[in-house]
Amino acid sequence: MSARLLCFNSACKKTYGLTEVIYNCPECGGLLEVEYTRAIPEPAVWKKLWRERRMSNEPLSQSGVWRYRELFPFVENEADIVTLREGNTPLLPGPKAAAYAGVESVVFKHQGFNPSGSFKDNGMTAGVAQARRLGMKRVACVSTGNTSASMAAYASAGGLEPMIFIPNGNISYGKLAQALEYGARTFQVEANFDQILALVRILAEKLGIYLLNSINPFRIEGQKSIVIEMMDQRDWNVPDWIVLPGGNLGNVSAFGKGLREMLAAGLITKLPRLAVIQAEGASPFYEFMQHPGEFTANTHPETLATAIKIGDPVSWPKAWQEIVTTNGVVEKVTEQEIADAKAVIGACGIGCEPASAATLAGIKKLKAAGIIAAHADIVAVLTGNVLKDPDYIYRYHTGALEAPDGSPITPTFGNRPVVVPNDPERIADLIR
Ligand SMILES: *Cc1c(COP(=O)(O)O)cnc(C)c1O
Ligand SMILES: [Zn+2]
Repeated sequence: MSARLLCFNSACKKTYGLTEVIYNCPECGGLLEVEYTRAIPEPAVWKKLWRERRMSNEPLSQSGVWRYRELFPFVENEADIVTLREGNTPLLPGPKAAAYAGVESVVFKHQGFNPSGSFKDNGMTAGVAQARRLGMKRVACVSTGNTSASMAAYASAGGLEPMIFIPNGNISYGKLAQALEYGARTFQVEANFDQILALVRILAEKLGIYLLNSINPFRIEGQKSIVIEMMDQRDWNVPDWIVLPGGNLGNVSAFGKGLREMLAAGLITKLPRLAVIQAEGASPFYEFMQHPGEFTANTHPETLATAIKIGDPVSWPKAWQEIVTTNGVVEKVTEQEIADAKAVIGACGIGCEPASAATLAGIKKLKAAGIIAAHADIVAVLTGNVLKDPDYIYRYHTGALEAPDGSPITPTFGNRPVVVPNDPERIADLIR
């Protein structure tokens, strides 16, 4: 087996060694991906091995990421790997959600069951393994969200120093609280996101800090495990559709790469169609797919689903390739549609954060448009845990939630707490 870094830009395609500390192609600035050249064994041999590992007490076999390491063999020394037993996320049927969307069935792959509560853990365990392999002592990212929560957890667990850079005054407390608790040094900078990114790149070079931002190709390798585990759980039966929210578009890039590689290895016999759902106020990829040509960033992305509030998604060239290859689609949904879909997922006893609920809202819209058939076999990926954003939930159910433009969101499925007197008769009447 051998692995290398390959420039994704088809006009360049330069390759680099795995231990070069680069984040973009030094030649053309393009995105990088990890490429493997190796003999492919019998698919049945791997499938059997992966099943056997599920019964093992050995840490890497217990990880729902590293159990499948044969499909991302970039690690040289397994001692570099830090696992918090990430992955192992369930497939949960949501009959009420299916009825809401007008389809026969929807199954949720719930990445919110991860150690830090989002799918970022699937990628971060791989990114941190690479940081340790490179001998780095410090890692950094620019994020207030799930990336910083996850990076803080994995870096601290692996004896590295996590450093988070955030724009001053632009904080989401739930996720930032996790990062603080996991011991990340946090710097609030008086600058915007792009300026901070430029600053962090200078610091990274100066101090030998490893960057674990969204373009890190090793994080993408780890995120492939989400679809690998999904296929294993379905006994390698490919669904018609995999539906996921899109922000920076790293996850759809990882899904597409993982699926193509599984097809090439003979582990699956066809590709599912990928459906990426964006929030209407942050939908540059949706707009691009309407008229592919020049990619135009949205300079003022707005949505309450903060995990997908991205105006200039770095991984769009990869995402575009994966949508084309899988005959996929990109859809956008409103704040009201996200909020109602989220409450329906909650009423299934499942729950998720706002960005994740874009999936169900998207399925409903694509079904209504005749793109998803009623009898389709659909897996929707819930990207984050319900407790990531409790403030949003309370506001929705009490009718106090407002869209970013100030317009009210109707609590269609609102579930308001009721104030009652300390009187058993009157409470009994109310319950009846
Ligand atoms: C990061 C994130 C997303 C967006 O994923 P991308 O790879 O940036 O498209 C969606 N939902 C949640 C909960 C996230 O944390
Ligand atoms: Zn290049």
